[in-house]
Amino acid sequence: MNRPATPALPALPDLASLPSMTVGERADRLRAGLEAAEADALLVTHLVNVRYLTGFTGSAGVLLVTPDDLLLVTDGRYRDQSAEQVTAAGVAARIEITNTNQREVLQGAVAGVVRLGLEAEHVTWAQQRRFAAEWFPEAELVATAGLIEDLRLVKDAGEVARIEAAALVADHALAEVRPLLAERPTEQEFALALDTAIRRLGASGNSFETIAGSGPNGAKPHARPSGRRIAAGDLVVLDFGALVDGYCSDMTRTYMVGKPSDIQARMLDVVTRAQQAGVDAVRAGVPVAAVDAACRSVITEAGWGDAFLHATGHGVGLDIHEPPRVAATGDATLGAGQVVTVEPGVYLPEHGGVRVEDTLVVTEDGCRALTHTAKAPALP
Ligand code: ZN
Ligand code: ZN
Repeated sequence: MNRPATPALPALPDLASLPSMTVGERADRLRAGLEAAEADALLVTHLVNVRYLTGFTGSAGVLLVTPDDLLLVTDGRYRDQSAEQVTAAGVAARIEITNTNQREVLQGAVAGVVRLGLEAEHVTWAQQRRFAAEWFPEAELVATAGLIEDLRLVKDAGEVARIEAAALVADHALAEVRPLLAERPTEQEFALALDTAIRRLGASGNSFETIAGSGPNGAKPHARPSGRRIAAGDLVVLDFGALVDGYCSDMTRTYMVGKPSDIQARMLDVVTRAQQAGVDAVRAGVPVAAVDAACRSVITEAGWGDAFLHATGHGVGLDIHEPPRVAATGDATLGAGQVVTVEPGVYLPEHGGVRVEDTLVVTEDGCRALTHTAKAPALP
């Protein structure tokens, strides 16, 4: 028993009483950016963005943001829910419930708006044509891009608390089910056990479909869990996350089952060092490309540059993949309060895959990991 003790995980917070978010301030921050986008008002149709601005989580609804009004239009299924959620979020919005007259309600609210912004990245071609020809023929429609996504980049304390709570659920779920690996389950069996634990610990679900790739499957970065039975000699890539109050977590750990070959041991060492180099590079003011380079150079020096098959990381929030992309081709610069992953990997079909990923919140002088599971501990 001389194996070093794994540091204990922080306790799970009470998921029912997480710190509040500054939802009520977001529409004003959006309004401050409308003039630069050459729009007088914005019709928010992307549901995640409607949620961000109002707290409303329904599956149908649009939000009109004008200089002095915030109008949420949804249908009868959400009559009570919309009022409850908007109030709970501290948002001063008018709510109109209509099952048949959404167009008329919005036309009335848009009357007098000269330049109406649309979320160009989320509006279909057909919708745009309908808006232009039938819904708002009097207005000049303006294509806007990333207005709300830019606001979403920097997380408030309540958002960080939710992402960290989701990460802790995932940490605790993995700690609970990891001993199962010794029983040599199939990838699907292991993923199911992990997903069940995530739900049992209070998350509303997975933040994306769990990846459990063993042996050659682990060399496919986004392998779906298969019926393959995990065996001695396998590297097992586990990439998964939880969802808490709409916020995602994202973590990858790779475990060796049995004794690693020389190459597998070297893969684990190189990727773990590359990931640490990336984490060490994360700080407010640092270009995302520099974080990518910090990871990539360790792997390239080891001779496996071509086996690092993807970008280094991505932002995490209400979406599992959101800006900024942490990549060699990314032109963003990290800012305090952004939440990003660092997840280098090496994938060799004959030996398996290794990826290590943390979700980090950027600070002025570095970063703080929101994912807490120890990296590459020995396995039974
Ligand atoms: Zn991941
Ligand atoms: Zn990721």
